[in-house]
Amino acid sequence: MCSDARKNTSVRKRVINWYEQSGRRFPWRNTTDPYHILIAEILLRRTTASAVSRVFTDFIHRFDSPNRLKRARESTIVKALSSLGLQDLRAKQLKETASILVKDYNGIVPRSDESLQSLLGVGDYIASAVRNFAFGEPVPLVDGNVIHFISRVFGIHFAGPTDVQAWEFMTQFGNPHEAKLYWGIIDLVATVCLRQNPRCGSCPLTKVCEWYTKGDIASETA
Ligand code: SF4
Repeated sequence: MCSDARKNTSVRKRVINWYEQSGRRFPWRNTTDPYHILIAEILLRRTTASAVSRVFTDFIHRFDSPNRLKRARESTIVKALSSLGLQDLRAKQLKETASILVKDYNGIVPRSDESLQSLLGVGDYIASAVRNFAFGEPVPLVDGNVIHFISRVFGIHFAGPTDVQAWEFMTQFGNPHEAKLYWGIIDLVATVCLRQNPRCGSCPLTKVCEWYTKGDIASETA
């Protein structure tokens, strides 16, 4: 499905170049520590990266290991996450995740997909993000942002992040692995390729984007 190798290469280069110039800088993008990346990805669910960036450094400082997070009072974790919303649920999940890490993995974030997905609240995307960003494994990542990006740039519409074909597409498009590619996609969707009123005038992809070059708005999925 992802057959145009030249277009893929061009899109990858443009996204990565744009990211290096204009991408957002977050503390979890400056580390390969699996625990830090796991915590960041869990916190990033159902909230914005900007909101997480306001609590992340302090959170990691206070709960600097699975063991310390496991032993913390739930009320303390709730307080640390209060600005994100859903803090009661998040605190409970994080504490449970830390308990599994300590009990089953010696307090070390595991590397395999199966082990990562044994942690509470860790599904395909978070497991792949940890394997990719922490362990440097060339695994694809697919979430709503990526689906939106593919739809706009390639004119291909997948059912959603659980669509196996979307993962196959990204395996071809994103290979070889490059974390900056995914961060670039995430940041482009957050700041330029907005779902409503995309800012095409500020986008590095106008020459290769199906939506832009063909006025593909009519076929775009919601
Ligand atoms: S050219 Fe416009 S529609 Fe295409 S990726 Fe860029 S912002 Fe999105």
